[in-house]
Amino acid sequence: MRPIYLDNHATTPLDRRALDAMMPYLTEKFGNAASRTHAYGWETEEAVKVAREHVAALISATPEEIVFTSGATESINLALKGIFHQPPASDSLPHLITLATEHKAVLDTCRRLEQDGFAKVTLLSPQPDGRLDLADLEAAFTPETKLVAVMTANNEIGVVQPIEKIGERCRSKNIFFFTDAAQAAGKIPLDVESMHIDMLSLSAHKMYGPKGVGALYVRRRHPRVRLHALIDGGGHERGFRSGTLNVAGIAGFGKAAELALQALPDESARTARLRDKLLNAILERVPEVFINGSLTHRLPNNLNLSFAGIDSEALIMAMNRIAVSTGSACSSAAIEPSHVLKAIGVSDDLAYASVRFGLGRFTTDGDIDIAIEEVSNAVKRLRELTKANTAIPS
Ligand SMILES: *Cc1c(COP(=O)(O)O)cnc(C)c1O
Repeated sequence: MRPIYLDNHATTPLDRRALDAMMPYLTEKFGNAASRTHAYGWETEEAVKVAREHVAALISATPEEIVFTSGATESINLALKGIFHQPPASDSLPHLITLATEHKAVLDTCRRLEQDGFAKVTLLSPQPDGRLDLADLEAAFTPETKLVAVMTANNEIGVVQPIEKIGERCRSKNIFFFTDAAQAAGKIPLDVESMHIDMLSLSAHKMYGPKGVGALYVRRRHPRVRLHALIDGGGHERGFRSGTLNVAGIAGFGKAAELALQALPDESARTARLRDKLLNAILERVPEVFINGSLTHRLPNNLNLSFAGIDSEALIMAMNRIAVSTGSACSSAAIEPSHVLKAIGVSDDLAYASVRFGLGRFTTDGDIDIAIEEVSNAVKRLRELTKANTAIPS
């Protein structure tokens, strides 16, 4: 039997209804959405239009502000490289401020911009609860600061940043504000107007849509964001991203966005209840457990715990009936401790003892009952083993 899936930050299953929305565009409706001369093109163009409206509605944007991409990684690259595309004319480098707990797609892109001499990058450390201190942000502003990149919610510890306040600070200084909302979309309300967001990245596969499709929101008014394209070609997506559109993927993404917006209040409440049930039961049964990141400013579906004295890889292996991970799927091949846990001051020992639980739309009460059993039994077993081993004189 396959384990219960509790790794919904790595990816989510495709919602059946999103698949149904995709099927016609994988079969009979195969037209190129840019074909203007016949019905094959018109029907796929219409599908893209509808999807664009749903994606825009999820974040209170207008459809014209949505650029479809291959996923959040590409959206992030477009946002950051699209702003910092010119080698500076003078020695005063344009300045970018970001956070040490960002996804690698942001951190690696910033590093590239710095290495290539396109930007000077300031990496801010969050507070121990994972949140950015606004005073630290304001202290980092310089006359050269052009953009601030702070994620809406973290993919490892689920911590939600004070996005509206960051947006306010940036807007008042005419600094662009980009936020990576790949984890937040569909879990917490997002509004690019009230939050003063200029660019925002989304990924369909993190919200029950298909893999390989995402979007970048690019503000058109107050202020208009001018971006340099990464991919040139036929001028698709208003010149921001050329290439024949992935119509089926986009249709699935649109359906996923529509469903996410409808389901958001109930789904958030339900996953938060299940998450709290999991947390409370673990705290009750297992001693020496530490919660990583703020519990109050947190995605409803995330839990990240450190089990003192336990190697998380061994723990995950011991929990046969659940599928969880140590942190981000993108870096779990690396043996270094999580850069996120390090940045919030978790010791290496506890960072190597951490497990991420990602609940989702399809997680049930019964799944959580099993997870509680798995975690408490496995931790107990492993701790008894270590005790027995250390008791043997060598
Ligand atoms: C998954 C994820 C990404 C990358 O998204 P892809 O669509 O897989 O490229 C970026 N940022 C965050 C916060 C993520 O969780």
